[in-house]
Amino acid sequence: MRKLAAGNWKMNGLAENLSELDNLTQAHPSPNVDILICPPAPLLMQAALQSPVVQIGAQDCHAKTNGAHTGDISPDLIKSIGATSVILGHSERRQDHGETNEQIAAKTQAAHAAGLIAVVCIGETHLQRLENETLDVLAAQLAGSLPASSTAENTVVAYEPVWAIGTGLVPTDQQIDQAHAFIRDTLVARFGDTAKEIRLLYGGSVKASNADAIFQIKNVDGALVGGASLKASDFSPIINALENTL
Ligand code: PEP
Repeated sequence: MRKLAAGNWKMNGLAENLSELDNLTQAHPSPNVDILICPPAPLLMQAALQSPVVQIGAQDCHAKTNGAHTGDISPDLIKSIGATSVILGHSERRQDHGETNEQIAAKTQAAHAAGLIAVVCIGETHLQRLENETLDVLAAQLAGSLPASSTAENTVVAYEPVWAIGTGLVPTDQQIDQAHAFIRDTLVARFGDTAKEIRLLYGGSVKASNADAIFQIKNVDGALVGGASLKASDFSPIINALENTL
């Protein structure tokens, strides 16, 4: 499988920040891993036009292909402007917009139908971890958020403990190992052996200083990176760390 370094710019960046894509392309003219940047929606088309090496993804999509849904973006539109992927079920969307597993599954199915790769995010809150509910939460999110159309080609699962996102806190290697092994086993139990090829990303305060260690953990096939993806100078060492595992 081809490993994946994915960056989520969230609601950061202005038009001029697309120059970071040029910087990334210069630093990685022919990468041995997939590089994906998910900028805010208004920058998607220019980003996709601008970037020959870096793949471009959205941060959300609607479950329908078109219609009276003011402010929403259809997966077909995202695909039509040259993007390859869409992040779905990020914890900030689950929190800020009350997105449910069912809604995320519908969006994921629509993304698949449009020919997009869905990067589906799951992860426990701090309280859920303290109460030993982590694996139950992951099981419920996997069962509820992934539609039957999920394959290794059209789906990436990102394990993002909510308490590790943007906090500087990172789970122990053992905690990541346990979560990723559980996710892998759960996917194989549902989708069969082909699910061994579904890429599993770790996300939550990944930076250059911890990327090497995280990428050594079994079943970690890349990272979903927030803050450290905004500047090529921060993201590039993470890409290098992933390439160094090959
Ligand atoms: C994220 O946005 O998915 C994320 C993991 O953010 P950060 O790397 O900043 O913790």
